[in-house]
Amino acid sequence: MKLYIISNRLPVKVANPNGTFVFSRSEGGVTTGLDSLETSYEKHWIGWPGICVNKEKDKQEINEKLLELNFHPVFLSEAHIRNYYEGYSNSTIWPMCHYFYAYTLYKKCFWQSYQVVNQLFCDEICRLIRPGDKVWIQDYQLMLLPGMLRKVYPELCIGYFHHIPFPSYELFRILPERAEILKGLLGADFIAFHTHDYMRHFISAVERVLHIDFKLDEIQIGNRVVRVDALPMGINYELYHNASQNPVVRQAIDRNRTLFGNHKLILSVDRLDYSKGILHRLHGFSSFLEHHPEYHGKVTLAMVIVPSRDHVGSYAELKTKIDEEIGSVNGRYSTMNWTPVCYFYHGFSLEELTAMYYVADIALVTPLRDGMNLVAKEYVASKCDNTGVLILSEMAGAAVEMTDAIQINPNDSGQIENAICQALEMPAEEQKLRLQRMQKILSVQTVNKWAADFVNGLDMTCMKNDSLRK
Ligand code: UDP
Repeated sequence: MKLYIISNRLPVKVANPNGTFVFSRSEGGVTTGLDSLETSYEKHWIGWPGICVNKEKDKQEINEKLLELNFHPVFLSEAHIRNYYEGYSNSTIWPMCHYFYAYTLYKKCFWQSYQVVNQLFCDEICRLIRPGDKVWIQDYQLMLLPGMLRKVYPELCIGYFHHIPFPSYELFRILPERAEILKGLLGADFIAFHTHDYMRHFISAVERVLHIDFKLDEIQIGNRVVRVDALPMGINYELYHNASQNPVVRQAIDRNRTLFGNHKLILSVDRLDYSKGILHRLHGFSSFLEHHPEYHGKVTLAMVIVPSRDHVGSYAELKTKIDEEIGSVNGRYSTMNWTPVCYFYHGFSLEELTAMYYVADIALVTPLRDGMNLVAKEYVASKCDNTGVLILSEMAGAAVEMTDAIQINPNDSGQIENAICQALEMPAEEQKLRLQRMQKILSVQTVNKWAADFVNGLDMTCMKNDSLRK
């Protein structure tokens, strides 16, 4: 029997150097968790391979190559990517779930494409699954899929994990397709979120939009129940905690130390996204520099921003504003031998990233909303015997577990400024104590445990539903 993981993107990188396609697995949080998942089920993955191809011959070649990895592609056209992915997923659902009401775009063609693509995924799953197989759907691009599958297979065991915030009913109700989305999700047997708050918001949206009541964490629909749970996703703790023993990382650590000298290093790492509070962070840092001249020449903010969704208008505008703000801070405070903001607009390898985490005195994580925020967890895990302080926005899902971080409201630049001062002045012993307490949580609540807990929750609910049907 098989467990099918369904996500918008397959975890593969595709290259076509000499006219033939070459594939390599790309590692992300979910892939790592699932790789280590011990289950009697054979694991398969269904998703978009990341490139648009038109020729049947190319599709066949990609199909055959991916099959070797137990991957099954769903081919999407450029119009699908524009309307389903950049459109409904990232210009309607994403801003709505992150409380960016004013950024939410409604277009008929977005919604139509979202339905069409969810149906394409449904068709591919139906072509592959056999009795006894299970399906685990990942994230907001595929919220109609559980309901579509349920119609074809009333007894199929279906799970869904929502990786981004689920907003309050007051926000969710603005979505014209709110009822269709909720009915789609309720096609699943088991639905999980990163935090209890997201779960509560989902329950209240169902109760108020669809007028059906939950009994604690369950709702009865016909002859089956849907159960919800809060399962915060973790990281591969050992990978980050042991990274500094890797000779390549060691070299990068030494390079960084030479580069940043005796400066205190503040690090921030995000995808380019308005939900990450990058401008708020810059305002907080600028206000810190304005009020604390004693730190001029002694503190550097290294900002890693990974390009993302640059075809979506709001992202391109944000990039321009960030460039301007960094230019303004650097223009105002730089000296011949000190540049306050060191800006990287590209991704880093895992080795380079963990070396940055290891060396950074402070991680400044200030999202306005974030489903979880793995960077905050990776920073804490990457510390070994050394010091470091995590400054973390209350609006990140990670704030629920990372209570030993200095927590701030990112909308208050005064709080960011004070938190930077507090972090810079925190005694080494206190830094270590806070890190150890957070590391204890991270080392238990790993991504492997998250995957195992989800599959366990799914199994239990499906067993209950099997007995209800008898
Ligand atoms: N990341 C990376 N290379 C980079 C910057 C970030 O691989 O140069 C990874 C980082 O390690 C983390 C992920 O990107 O695992 C970002 O996850 P997070 O939950 O913080 O934010 P998301 O991008 O999912 O909103």
